[in-house]
Amino acid sequence: MSNPFVAYVSGIPSRPTVKVRTGPSTTYDPPMFEISVGTSNLPILDVRADDKGANLQGKTYQWFRLQFPNGQVGWTRDDLLTVSGDGTAFGYGVVSTGTVAFNLIRSFVPNITTTTINPVGVVPPAPVAPIPAAPPAPTVIAPPVVVTPPTIPTAPTQPMAPVVMSPVTPPPTQPAAPTVVVVPVIIPVTTAPAPVAPVAPVAPVPAAPPPVAPVPALPLNAPMAVIKTMGAAPTRLGPSTTFSRTGVLLNRHGRYSILEVQRENANQRYRWLRVSANGQSVWIREDLVSYEGDTSVLGLPTDLYPAPMVEKYWWVRGYNMSPNLDTSLVQHDGWDLGAATGEPMLAGPNGGTVVKINICSKCTAEKPSTLMNGYSVGDPAIFNDPAWGFGYGNYVIVRYTSDQLPVSTRQLLLSRGFGETAAVYVMYAHLAAIAVREGQVLTANQQIGTCGNTGNSEAAHLHLESRASKSAQFIGWANIRSGVMDAVALFKR
Ligand SMILES: [Zn+2]
Repeated sequence: MSNPFVAYVSGIPSRPTVKVRTGPSTTYDPPMFEISVGTSNLPILDVRADDKGANLQGKTYQWFRLQFPNGQVGWTRDDLLTVSGDGTAFGYGVVSTGTVAFNLIRSFVPNITTTTINPVGVVPPAPVAPIPAAPPAPTVIAPPVVVTPPTIPTAPTQPMAPVVMSPVTPPPTQPAAPTVVVVPVIIPVTTAPAPVAPVAPVAPVPAAPPPVAPVPALPLNAPMAVIKTMGAAPTRLGPSTTFSRTGVLLNRHGRYSILEVQRENANQRYRWLRVSANGQSVWIREDLVSYEGDTSVLGLPTDLYPAPMVEKYWWVRGYNMSPNLDTSLVQHDGWDLGAATGEPMLAGPNGGTVVKINICSKCTAEKPSTLMNGYSVGDPAIFNDPAWGFGYGNYVIVRYTSDQLPVSTRQLLLSRGFGETAAVYVMYAHLAAIAVREGQVLTANQQIGTCGNTGNSEAAHLHLESRASKSAQFIGWANIRSGVMDAVALFKR
């Protein structure tokens, strides 16, 4: 009668894949292969406590032995998996709603934290080298096919990528790195090397080890990065993912002073921030933070709208479209911000007008999402079905006219040729409830609904999408498709 106990690879926001190992700890290195986030319906064969007792705030990680589509069997950690079905045999009871496994409490946990378990006949490797010099690149299994749905002229045309995190997922604690190893942080060289001077005929001065740069005293209103990931955020030695991770994790809601901002590459993709954390200097990508203080000194606009949910949300996924498409990530034309169902969703600070609402007729309170109704994530049938809101579930589209926009947004629209009377239309999707009517004129920060899990969604989240138009006359969402732009044009986060 019960459903089988299965896992969905939910992963962490910053990585498209999750490592699969030969045993229940990160010391089983290198990984066997990597599995794409979004892979679903993986039979759970066994669950063991972390071999080395690795834990997060005292809660020991559990590892799931899974059967993968490539025929292999391997282990993945519980903070990276969303599970559902009858887990009674492993002490989980019946999990009726997909839940991040780390958040579940096992009623029995056999032999926690011992190192004597020899899992499934896998021979533990020799003692782990603290820092693998060059870990071999694991095999990446082809990601699941992302289906682009046919265009529906009168409807939203771009499917949301499924949100991959659950409301209370624990911090993404670096599944890629050996967790117990302290990695000395090397302060990256951020200045261009000095031109090589003609060598003077003197004995070379032995280089003294550079002192650790002291953290400068902070001026009042100094720009700060506030961490918006669900849990601790990983950091890197330099301003791109090509640099190694440091051992430094930044705490959710932690405030860190920003020392420097750099673009990732010539394509003007993400900015990276060099921040000071406990006297160390580390890099973090901009989409994992919000800003406080005077960011004008960093060249960032200061007048943007606040994020539509106050404080209690976390970053799941950002805008990823041409011309800055990162092909290693899912194409995505909005921001996904995770939050609990029922979290208030607020309109902009200068008012706006509701130009469209959609009530998802197939989304019920008990089973709001397509996934809960037996569809796979990204099922193309959903994107053709108005009863599912074409995948967006319950949504509201609000028009913000030129006079309601931040000055920096108006300047951006001008620079892109939208003209003086441009408007920005914002879709707030996957809502649990809608509190406004079509045509309604909104007051400042008026609540327009609540965060939910309706439509093509894995867990409660907001899909926030911005499209600019030359006209304040709403001509349909699909008709302003060409104006799609990163929500950062209008919103702080
Ligand atoms: Zn989305």
